Amino acid sequence: MTKGKNALVTGSTSGIGLGIAEALCAAGMNVMLNGFGSPADISRGRTRLEQKYGVTVRYSAADMAKPDEIRSLIATTKAAFGQLDILVNNAGIQHVQPIEEFPDERWDAIIAVNLTSAFHTTKHSIGDMKARNWGRIINIASAHGLVASPFKPAYVAAKHGLIGLTKTVALGYAEHGVTCNAICPGYVMTPLVRRQIPDQAKARGISEEHVIKDVLLASQATKQFVTVEQLGALAVFLCTDAAAQITGAALPVDGGWTAH
Ligand code: NAD
Repeated sequence: MTKGKNALVTGSTSGIGLGIAEALCAAGMNVMLNGFGSPADISRGRTRLEQKYGVTVRYSAADMAKPDEIRSLIATTKAAFGQLDILVNNAGIQHVQPIEEFPDERWDAIIAVNLTSAFHTTKHSIGDMKARNWGRIINIASAHGLVASPFKPAYVAAKHGLIGLTKTVALGYAEHGVTCNAICPGYVMTPLVRRQIPDQAKARGISEEHVIKDVLLASQATKQFVTVEQLGALAVFLCTDAAAQITGAALPVDGGWTAH
């Protein structure tokens, strides 16, 4: 039932978004990629997915911090595929610094990309899902949508907000065949995490090795990073009929982190 469906994955030129996009392609879905990166790399990635899985893969460079570009992205996706069935709100950025030094513009950017973009994408796509009585919205929140860590004020606030948005959208459309869920990953070794290791080391006054062992994996009971393949598999499952009664959920995939 996933074959031939049309999906948009925001922030899918890298990391988790790219992993979810590939899992959706492998399940027979057409995918609109989005995000930043070198045009040559993105074009190569598109061709690889199309050839490997026999689906259509398009790309938009729309900036998820800009409501007008988000509106155009939804329109472009519908025009490319005829309709949009599955929306994965994944684009996200991070900044780690104590709140007293935290730059105002970093706060605004994180709230815009990690939270407000999901409001705009959902607003412009859910009406058609409701009219067709089928749709899936998957918000990539974080374990940081359920619990906090120090020095991530904007990120933790945005991810908690995204889970709230998930619940209210789920309730509003539950009788119209549209589910809305949040996936809450623990740490995944993507560029977003790699980039924060030096900042965490500086903010905490410890070495980068200690950040990995004593900060990133400290709470993950399995002592292993989550993989993008594991997150992709859950996203595909949420698109199936077997998941039709899962809505408004915040699903941890965090190696036991939030069980503490
Ligand atoms: P990443 O840096 O590898 O990828 C982020 C993606 O978002 C890239 O494709 C980037 O181009 C895109 N992006 C950034 N700003 C954008 C903008 N303004 N407009 C459009 N695209 C934009 O990061 P990742 O680790 O794969 O993170 C993906 C999502 O997963 C984020 O929402 C992040 O908060 C969440 N997450 C990550 C982890 C982790 O450990 N990596 C854990 C929990 C949640």
